Amino acid sequence: SGHVVVVGGGLATARLVGALRRKRFAGRITVVSAEHHPPYDRPPLSKQVLSGSRDDAPLPFDVEKLDVDLRLGTRATGLDAGARTLRTDAGDGDGELAYDALAIATGATPIRLPGSGAQLTLRTLDDALALRRRLTPGARVVIVGASWIGAEVATTALAAGCRVTCVEYAAEPFAGAIGPVVGASTRAWWAGIDLRTSTAVASVESDGVHLADGEVLPAEVVVTGIGVRPDLAWLADSGLRTDRGILVDARLRTSVPGVVALGDVAQRWSRHTGSHRLVEHWDEASMVATAAAASLLDWAEGPEHDPVPYFWSDLFGRKLQYVGSHAPGDELSVERDDDGALARARWSRDGVLTAWLGVDASKDVVRARTAVGGPVEALG
Ligand code: FAD
Repeated sequence: SGHVVVVGGGLATARLVGALRRKRFAGRITVVSAEHHPPYDRPPLSKQVLSGSRDDAPLPFDVEKLDVDLRLGTRATGLDAGARTLRTDAGDGDGELAYDALAIATGATPIRLPGSGAQLTLRTLDDALALRRRLTPGARVVIVGASWIGAEVATTALAAGCRVTCVEYAAEPFAGAIGPVVGASTRAWWAGIDLRTSTAVASVESDGVHLADGEVLPAEVVVTGIGVRPDLAWLADSGLRTDRGILVDARLRTSVPGVVALGDVAQRWSRHTGSHRLVEHWDEASMVATAAAASLLDWAEGPEHDPVPYFWSDLFGRKLQYVGSHAPGDELSVERDDDGALARARWSRDGVLTAWLGVDASKDVVRARTAVGGPVEALG
């Protein structure tokens, strides 16, 4: 028995609560979520919800069956780990919550650009519905950031008849995630979009996007997709060790006994890379629950979580999938299709496969995931 409190109301939380009950945890579970909706899935937000083929994307989370006290619209504001007490912004004497074990799954928050002009970001269901209303035919849309969110928004904006400009600081699209060479081989996908690479934004103002060189890109809609960052401010005097995220071991344990962190907020130790890494992917937040639940129930012993990373993106009518993790300097081989556009890529180091990328190659993902860490020739 005991009382488990979970902070955050997203994918990692939904999976964790399910895992606790599957492991026959019979004590109290309280979920504190800043969101006004029960847990939902985020990948559809920039795909089906934005394009209008769906209006929401609820995750399986049956409050009655799971016997959870779900406190929506409530934000954690502080943690007294010594007293095992979570502070929240709830009024009427409900603001402090005592726990026996605590899980932090607060995800991450989009990074914003300077300036007083309106800029939309895309993290929540409400964000997606607000952006969808603005993607009207002829609207001038400037997207800052040519990575996954930027490309998915560009796909939908183009289909909606918007005039789309995408501004990217790096020399090639997706360079931060897959490197400049592979990124460059996606340029053909951006047809119909005014893609401006090697371009720095100074600020977003009411008349549009101001570039560092002084040019102003007029826009009715500005979408900022330049990455996310975990919000750790509320943990400042908690004693929890943090870096860019909350530092956890391969069992998701923080530096404070009884407190785990998982999903986008966690910077998890990985044996694969020999470092603490933020793994901001759906697959991580989904699969990590089993090990996190085990640590909550038995701090001393349990399974480790350190799978080969996996993510996908649906963009420009294609599905891109990536497994593993490459590092600068890895040997790269790229396969192109008949039009010269990216089809596959693989990275290796000293003959060992470190990462694989496929475009519309779902059938090969499982094999590639198994092959990562082994000889690169094994992939055939
Ligand atoms: P989240 O889902 O962000 O949930 C965190 C929750 O914590 C939120 O409900 C938030 O309101 C709440 N919260 C935050 N701070 C507090 C606080 N102080 N107190 C209380 N509650 C708080 N990944 C892929 O692999 N492929 C994709 O195609 C893909 N598409 C995506 C598209 C979009 C638009 C977005 C936003 C993400 C996408 N992702 C994708 C990433 C994936 O959705 C995330 O990795 C995943 O949602 C992380 O889950 P999480 O539970 O850790 O965090």
